[in-house]
Amino acid sequence: MNPVYCIVNQKGGVGKTTTAVNLAAYLAISGVATLLVDLDPQANATSGLGIDKNAVGAEHGGSPTIYDVLVNDAQPDDAIIPTCVPGLMAMPSNLDLAGAEVELMARVARETILRRVIEPLRARFDIILFDTPPSLGILTVNGLAAADAVIVPIQCEYYALEGVSQLMRTIDIIRRHVNPSLEIALVVMTMFDARVRLSQQVVDEVRRAFGDRVSPTVVPRNVRLSEAPSHGRPVALYDPASRGAQAYRKLAEEVLKLGQARSG
Ligand code: ADP
Ligand code: MG
Repeated sequence: MNPVYCIVNQKGGVGKTTTAVNLAAYLAISGVATLLVDLDPQANATSGLGIDKNAVGAEHGGSPTIYDVLVNDAQPDDAIIPTCVPGLMAMPSNLDLAGAEVELMARVARETILRRVIEPLRARFDIILFDTPPSLGILTVNGLAAADAVIVPIQCEYYALEGVSQLMRTIDIIRRHVNPSLEIALVVMTMFDARVRLSQQVVDEVRRAFGDRVSPTVVPRNVRLSEAPSHGRPVALYDPASRGAQAYRKLAEEVLKLGQARSG
């Protein structure tokens, strides 16, 4: 079955959105039909793909967003729109999604709404990715419940593993209650700076904790990666020769291999 990956770490600023956007872009560029679902009300993945987050949303006269799908039962097909990358489709987000936490509170089976939305889309896309907000609230829980596996970006910095044990406990709870087969596909080290000795120490520490689930591709700190979103483009279109771009191209190859291994 075509894989669904949830990119997750409840810490903010660790590179979730950068990983979601750039991984999705390189998957699409390599010919893989890819859907990126933006589960963050900040909508940085949406705008990073060249979509105007103020122009989407049923209440704003635009096409439906993931908010409209989750909360107002909009048709998922109507919420899927093209991005600036050929072959990459997005289900965008906007600030409306910040209300979902409260609006879904009283729903029956609120943890599995996204799973039911995604199920019929699996046949249409080779890979589906979720970008998640920096919390373990209902939106992230929906992402974990709907995914086959998680991809965990970890920033090469002090206290890198802080919060990761809480994430692992949450994944365990999700396994026990709603999604028994949820796997940890990859841990991706981000913002690696070879000039800083700490960076290598953090990579070593995370490798001790997660072994070979840590991706051999370490994403360097690269200014092109941080500039690209302000141009509404993934780095693959903004500066494909940059070191950041090369890392995400390699990561996409790894994720494709994982998918092949999964399907036997
Ligand atoms: P998250 O989604 O986990 O909050 P982001 O992907 O938005 O994290 O990254 C946080 C900030 O760091 C953003 O400004 C982003 O452009 C920048 N950034 C992320 N990865 C890198 C990198 N490898 N090199 C340089 N800047 C990066
Ligand atoms: Mg983000």
